[in-house]
Amino acid sequence: MHQRQIQFVAQEWKCQPNKFLTPANERHEILLGSANMLFGSLVSGVIGCYISNGGYSKMYYGFSEYGWSYLPLSAFALYIYSDCAMYYIHRMLHIPFLYRHIHKVHHRYHQPTAFSATAMHPVEFILYQGYMAIVPFMVPIHPGIKLSL
Ligand SMILES: [Zn+2]
Repeated sequence: MHQRQIQFVAQEWKCQPNKFLTPANERHEILLGSANMLFGSLVSGVIGCYISNGGYSKMYYGFSEYGWSYLPLSAFALYIYSDCAMYYIHRMLHIPFLYRHIHKVHHRYHQPTAFSATAMHPVEFILYQGYMAIVPFMVPIHPGIKLSL
């Protein structure tokens, strides 16, 4: 597609319709974001395999095991926990030392794409994955709730 046509179409849906990532940043973002997603998928798969094969966790599988009111309350609590953890981890990463050495990688993409959400320093990615990965080991949670967030 011609650059002029791309800009015309971008007017319809982009917040910054006249700005695009440089090709080098776009390649970097896709590779880093994909590598992080691959790593996260492998770790999640190992954890899921461990739990489904009888490894220790606090996951439960019967809807009424903790009472019917626990299910929606745990979903709400997990949503609040997830949102707060993401917010405060992000805030912490804006401490100048952490920003310079870790978080700056994520903010090099001034015109975000679908890969921007996972294109970050691996330490930052582990922090974000870690706060959700510990949930099934810390509190009783139904897999339907855990998987939906
Ligand atoms: Zn930031």
